[in-house]
Amino acid sequence: MSRWVIKGLRTGIVTTRYPAREENAPGISPGLPQSSARSDADSEVLALRCPTDALRQADGQLKVDRARCIHCYRCARGVAKPIPWETGFEWASLRGKSSVFPNAFQRSLHIRVVDAGDCGACLNEVKLLNNPFYNMHRVGFFITPTPRKADILLVVGPVTDHMKTPLLKAYEAMPTPKRVMAAGACALSGGLFGPGFVTGPGVADVLSVDVEIPGCPPPPLAILHGLLAITGRRQADTIPGPAGIAAKEGGNER
Ligand code: SF4
Repeated sequence: MSRWVIKGLRTGIVTTRYPAREENAPGISPGLPQSSARSDADSEVLALRCPTDALRQADGQLKVDRARCIHCYRCARGVAKPIPWETGFEWASLRGKSSVFPNAFQRSLHIRVVDAGDCGACLNEVKLLNNPFYNMHRVGFFITPTPRKADILLVVGPVTDHMKTPLLKAYEAMPTPKRVMAAGACALSGGLFGPGFVTGPGVADVLSVDVEIPGCPPPPLAILHGLLAITGRRQADTIPGPAGIAAKEGGNER
């Protein structure tokens, strides 16, 4: 018998039932800060504590830019009036309804992961999707080492100058239809690193992004939610799009 099965029987830990059932095991997600109504003075205190300018005051609200949030908790701990914090993980957003794959692709999608200069955290969460608890194969998602067999380009990291060309080459080698997912604060906004002297402000500066997944890093189930959303198997917020260079040049060849 597989050692994983024995370990599962000993510990009582089984594969998550998400998306068929809700998953609320402890530690499954660090959650995200929420926009909320605030007095100007309270907003100013919290906004000054945020290291990435993810907090902005507008119309009596303290708004959270999820693409910039790095989960440092400075707005939630050690302050008199902490910001509210959501505990879920279904954070993915689609850039326009056309981001969803055609029906035929819903149950067997291959993913080429590109580390475009990440610190290792997002990449590690992607790796966890293959472990027995998340086991993304059961829902039809597979990592492939070659872009020629990939349907989805999953990018982590802010896209350093040196990774720009390899990223574009991987994208160009993929057959159509293809989609681009950006996972993590760095991939969405540059995070703590970009824009800087060796890196840009995220993936959308290079390619048209179809799915955005915030988090620093996004937990595995947030990434899985993005994959399910892009196959039309789970609802997600829609952001007006498209954005990025590929979009300007005709989009992701849909
Ligand atoms: S957790 Fe940190 S980065 Fe995120 S909004 Fe709060 S202070 Fe800003």
